[in-house]
Amino acid sequence: MAIDTTGIRAKLEEERHRIQAEIEALSEADSQSERERAGRAGRGNHMAEDASETFEHEKSLALLHNLRSIESQVDRALAKLEKGTYGQCDDCGKPIAAERLAAIPYAALCIDCKAKRERR
Ligand SMILES: [Zn+2]
Repeated sequence: MAIDTTGIRAKLEEERHRIQAEIEALSEADSQSERERAGRAGRGNHMAEDASETFEHEKSLALLHNLRSIESQVDRALAKLEKGTYGQCDDCGKPIAAERLAAIPYAALCIDCKAKRERR
């Protein structure tokens, strides 16, 4: 089966742009609330508010971590596209199902190997 590398590359690059924009927006929002918190420090006791802000901060950190991990998966998929190994499972080398790639164009593992890794 011939792979439409041009279409896939466009899809991956679009995904990368989207992720980078999200990372940027998130870092910006997070440093903004960081500054606000610093500005309020020492002015009274805002325990409850601080707790929820800390929670928000941790949530956006987790989200950032997640986005960065997808970003590196997209990069890896682009590298595989260059090498001509796109669509092959990193673990077993078998082709990844087309439906899976259509849903997650940066998938590096076939569904079986993914399930195996998650069980570990
Ligand atoms: Zn596999």
